[in-house]
Parts: sequence; C-alpha cells; structure tokens
Amino acid sequence: MADITTDELRSRIDEDWPRVVDALSEKIALGSVSAKGITGGHMKRSAEFVADLLGKEGVDARVVQSSNPDGTPGAWEVVGSRIVDPKAPTVLLYAHHDVQPVPDPSEWDTDPFVATAKDDGRLYGRGSADDGGGIAIHSGALHALGDDLGVNIKVFIEGEEEMGSPSFIPFIEAHRDEFASDVIIVADSGNWSAEIPSLTTSLRGNTCVDVTVRVLGHPVHSGQFGGPILDANTLASMLIASMYDENGSLVVPGVASEEPVGGLQRDLDEASLRADAAVVDGYRLAGADSLASRLWTKPSVTVIGFDAHPVDGSFNVIADSARFRLSMRTAPNQNPAEAQRALADFLVAHAPFGAEVSVEPLENGQGWAMDPDSAAVRDAEEALAEAFGTEPANKGEGGSIPFIPELQRIFPGAQVLVTGPEDPKANAHSPNESIDLASLRKNILAEALILTKLAK
Ligand SMILES: [Zn+2]
Repeated sequence: MADITTDELRSRIDEDWPRVVDALSEKIALGSVSAKGITGGHMKRSAEFVADLLGKEGVDARVVQSSNPDGTPGAWEVVGSRIVDPKAPTVLLYAHHDVQPVPDPSEWDTDPFVATAKDDGRLYGRGSADDGGGIAIHSGALHALGDDLGVNIKVFIEGEEEMGSPSFIPFIEAHRDEFASDVIIVADSGNWSAEIPSLTTSLRGNTCVDVTVRVLGHPVHSGQFGGPILDANTLASMLIASMYDENGSLVVPGVASEEPVGGLQRDLDEASLRADAAVVDGYRLAGADSLASRLWTKPSVTVIGFDAHPVDGSFNVIADSARFRLSMRTAPNQNPAEAQRALADFLVAHAPFGAEVSVEPLENGQGWAMDPDSAAVRDAEEALAEAFGTEPANKGEGGSIPFIPELQRIFPGAQVLVTGPEDPKANAHSPNESIDLASLRKNILAEALILTKLAK
C-alpha cells in the first residue's frame, strides 16, 4: 500500500461529498423505524440500501435476517467483508440502520423523513445522526481510501439497535468467525462538540434491587402507637439516606468508584448541566471531584419507585411496610452483580432500628471501559486530532449502550473504538434530530486516517 497523505484523503472526501449527503438523505427517506416492526419490509429495504451502499466500496455486503433467542425471525442485518490481505489487521465497522420512532411529527420544524439542510450547517431528519451518520462515515471513509485500503474490513450494520438488540447475542455468536477482528469501530456515539472530537471512553453498568422495609405485622393507629414505633416510610427514608455522606457521595463499601478512563481532558460545565436538567436555583450538586467523574465513572443510585399510601385519602396509621426500587449506575469496570451484592449487604446491615430489610436482586447490565493505552486508541486519537485540527476531549457515558460490552465479551481480544457523528445539538431520540455536516466530513477523514494508521 502506498502511503496516502491526509491532503489527498481530504480532497477525495471533498470530491465524494455530494454522494455522501445524497446517500444520507436517501437513507433518512427510508424511514427505517424499527419500532414499527423489525421484520417489516421497510426494514428489509433499509438493509438492502445499506448493503448496496457498502457494496459499491468493495464490501461483499449482504442482508441476513437474524433469529431471536426464541427462534422467531429477527432483524434485517447487513454483514460482509472486504479482505485486502489475509496478513493485514482486520477491522469490524459497526453502525445501525434502524432509527428512533417519531411519535409526534408536529413537534418537528421539518418533515422528519425528508432530509433538510439549513443555514446552520446541519442536515435535519430522523436518523441523520443516529445512526445514518455512522453509516455515512463508514461509506465515506472506505470510498476515500479506495484501493489504498490497507486493512481487512468486516461490516455489521444492525437493524434493531433502537429496540435493545434482542437478537444481537445469538446473531454475533452465530457469525463469530465472520466478525472476528483486531479492532472494532462503533460509529454510534459522538463528539464533545461539532468542533472538538472525542472517543467515548466508558459506559457505566447498571443494576436494580427491590427493597422491602417491614416494622409491623399490620398497620396500627398513630395516636395509639406513634412515638416508639416509626412508620415504615420513615425507616425506608432513613435507610436510603444512610447510603450517602454529608456531601451526597455514596458510601457503600464494595461499590466501586472510578476516575475518567485515560484521564480527564476536559471537565463538564456546571452551568450547562444545571440548565439542561433545569436544576432549581438553590440546589448544591451532590458528590465530590470532577463533574465528569460523577456523571461517567462513579456510581449513582436513584429511587425509581416507592410504594406508599397516596397523599389523597391518607389517614392516621403507621405503615407496617414500605417497598422501593433502587436503580444503580455502576463504575465502568465493576461487575454489576458484585456491586449489587455489596448494595444488598449494606442495606440489610443498615436496617434502621432493627427493622426487617429484605432485598430482591433484579437485572444487571455490564459497563465498559476502553483500554486507554492500546495502540488502536492512540492511532484513533491522533487521527481525530489531525482531522478536526484540535486535540480530542474524550468523554464517558453515564448510561449504557448494551451491545458494546457484549461485543467486548464475545471478542475479548479486540480493541473497541467508540466514535460517531453526534454532538450535543444532534437531538438523537428527540424531535429535530440533525447532524453537523462539517463535523461529519471531519469524522469521515478521521476514520479514513484511523484505517490508514491501523494498516501499519
Ligand atoms: Zn444509535
């Protein structure tokens, strides 16, 4: 492979640009809403469109229908490969071709399924960013490299990501050999902003427990027993409060707390966080250390359900029991089952006034952290810096993207790079979704540069 310069790649991308925007616009018009039925004809057409798009870049892309764990037909997936040299490294390119639904088109300023470019430099439409942008990046990068591609490519463009990927694990397991690769590029996340690129470095895991606090065999009158006997709601509140220190940091032994993976390049802005969440004026943010660590890599617990007597119609009784559900976001590297056990042990051990506390464990979801010292990560960071003309500010995700830890589990030796075309203005999953076109062009160059670097 001849060494291709960044300038040459950039000019090829510029030349190809109208094709990329047209393809993205056509993709938006397909309205591939998986919530309308993952096995539907509209989803098959969307998969065929993507297979055709990648086929033009030398990938032997084909559409395959997956099977759900119960054996019923599943999503229309796009798989394929382009092998340039059996001795070269292999890179799996991931994106998804399904899009979020549009429950109320009247909330949009434009037709959600007609790609509309505006003077703000953004292209509007459902799936423009999530994840039509990811497909555009892969197509554009392969096109720019053309015959200068120096790595083997495998592709997996999923058809049910927005539905929680029900057939993902059986599908990957069944195609394990076809997907085996040294590096996996997941183009389904985003950048710090349209101007500042990022790798997504970590995802928190999650776990849930249901907790019951019991103090009495039956409710009793508060006039007769109130005083020595605290009601179960109060005891439950005490139990919940016991998980925190005075700063609002969780103090549950065995629940891990981590720092941003690969170090923190840039902290989040408190004023934006307050504005985005509409935090009331006087509220002091809980926890300590960087805001980024509190949102990305430290654990957090939320009471997401609480069974108590409704206020209307309440009367003077001492509640015998109270039940609540805790949802915990766990540090990226901690096994969530281990965090769940630590949380359950803590709650039972801290039963206020010796009330009965029982904990029922619910589901766990594994987190994920990239290896910040891997060669692929260094290549990707250099490529992003070159393409965007500024150093990346990597970021974590406080939530989960369940298929990423699954990919990592099935291919433990692969380096997973999480990139993507979104930025904070993209409104993925909301009305008026859009993609910044200048940023998309830079993301295409970045991926072409990553593939070039990985070839060496
Ligand atoms: Zn997505």
